[in-house]
Amino acid sequence: MVTEPKSNEFDVDCPHCGRVREVHTGAGDAQGTTPSSGDVSVCFNCLGTSVFDDTLKLRLPTQQEAKEIAAIPSFTELMFQLISLKTKQMDERK
Ligand SMILES: [Zn+2]
Repeated sequence: MVTEPKSNEFDVDCPHCGRVREVHTGAGDAQGTTPSSGDVSVCFNCLGTSVFDDTLKLRLPTQQEAKEIAAIPSFTELMFQLISLKTKQMDERK
């Protein structure tokens, strides 16, 4: 059964571009939308990949975490979709 993703609202800064993000949507099922320590986050502004720490602030992934994240097939597909969306948005602004 497909369910609509639920969003959570709280502010965190992207450690890549500094943009404050207010809304977070989980990529899993409806039960997995509240981030936990160690969860991966992708910034819709710069597409930077971050990791939630114990206080739910975002930090840069370690090299080991970056390798593990890059090896997740669904993450590769997510990044492809986000890059395609960003490219489409940029083309529409021309
Ligand atoms: Zn960012």
